[in-house]
Amino acid sequence: MQALTVQPGVASSARLDEVPEPPAGDGSVLVRTLAVGICGTDSEIVAGHYGGAPPGSERLVLGHESLGLVESAPAGCGLATGDLVVGIVRHPDPVPCPSCAAGEWDMCRNGLYTEHGIKERHGFCAERFRMEPGFLVRVPHSLGALGVLLEPASVLVKAWQHIEHIGHRVQWQPARVLVTGAGPIGLLAALLAAARSLEVHVFDREREGPKPALVRALGAHYHAGALADVLAAAPPDVVLECTGAASVVLEVLHGSARGAVVCLVGVSPAGRRMSVDVGELNRDIVLENDVVFGSVNANRAHYEAAARALATADAGWLAALISRRVPLRSWADAFEKRRDDIKVVIDLA
Ligand code: BGC
Repeated sequence: MQALTVQPGVASSARLDEVPEPPAGDGSVLVRTLAVGICGTDSEIVAGHYGGAPPGSERLVLGHESLGLVESAPAGCGLATGDLVVGIVRHPDPVPCPSCAAGEWDMCRNGLYTEHGIKERHGFCAERFRMEPGFLVRVPHSLGALGVLLEPASVLVKAWQHIEHIGHRVQWQPARVLVTGAGPIGLLAALLAAARSLEVHVFDREREGPKPALVRALGAHYHAGALADVLAAAPPDVVLECTGAASVVLEVLHGSARGAVVCLVGVSPAGRRMSVDVGELNRDIVLENDVVFGSVNANRAHYEAAARALATADAGWLAALISRRVPLRSWADAFEKRRDDIKVVIDLA
């Protein structure tokens, strides 16, 4: 079968390969891949900056945002032929650490977890894959092809869950949310914010293209000017920082409201230095009882909640997040950055 593979650590090594059928040892459920979403992590892997192949293999099958159709499943496993499914990205570490032992592999303490298409486990950008039923999440049929948004949505469901846990450590009535970055992650963060009936502001550098209208369709405010002005006019109680840009991170840390919860979701490239007055920043955070925390990945409960959240969202709005679908043979086009891109999907159907 065909698969998109890469040699991790080697830039421009991605290619379409003929690979063996998925071995039975990968799991009892056979899935035919329909679509794979591409995100910044995939671009980092293709650029040779991130990722690891499975032990004993030089190459890694890419792809962690999946959508597939069950071809065969053992009787009584909870899945049946024809079910739409998404594969869970992360698997618990084998020790396991206390978090992985509790099914919270998104919080793995020892870093020995594995991730499909990212860290030591083949990904989903192959014509077929096998998984154990416990690592497949059923997608409501009503969602159809939009199910490929489930994995990124699960990451935001987790982020929101943690924001709310942290917020409720005290009497907490957040009114205003700021999302920085209107890529797929930022837009899904805004979708979940709007579903909580909060006043939602989204900041992005793009002034044109589809993003402003997508934000306004949520009843949210779109800002593309100076971030400092947005923060001064309306200091947010909650921030979801989705750009990973160092200057944006610093500005939201300084400019959030007293007692704000700032969730960092964007992964930054390392190596870009900036001069920061850490003393002043620390004073701000301490004297305002602010919380700043990072959030990555998701566990099974988050995927299931994400499926429910997407099923109740406006299907037309979700469909507009998928700006391009590229057939597997033209996979390289999926990694080209085009102006109006939001989410690009490799179509294997
Ligand atoms: C994926 C996460 C993963 C993270 C770090 C993200 O792109 O969505 O599931 O944990 O990369 O590898």
